[in-house]
Amino acid sequence: MRVRPYHSARSTAVHVYHEDDDCPAGRAVPWFDKVEGRRDCEPCPQCVGAVTSCLDRSAAAEVS
Ligand SMILES: [Zn+2]
Repeated sequence: MRVRPYHSARSTAVHVYHEDDDCPAGRAVPWFDKVEGRRDCEPCPQCVGAVTSCLDRSAAAEVS
C-alpha cells in the first residue's frame, strides 16, 4: 500500500526513502528509527518498482 514517504533515522542506514508499506526493506526499518519525509534520501528501488508496476505495467515489462 502506498504510504507517506519515510526513511531510517540511522546515519549508518542506506539513504533511501520508502513509499510502500509492503516494501521488505522498509519493513526492516525499526519503528523507532522511522522518520517521515525524504530528506537527503534517494527513492527506494523496490518502492519505485512497486508503484511503477501498478501505474504502467506495459512500460515496466518492456524494461525487464
Ligand atoms: Zn522501499
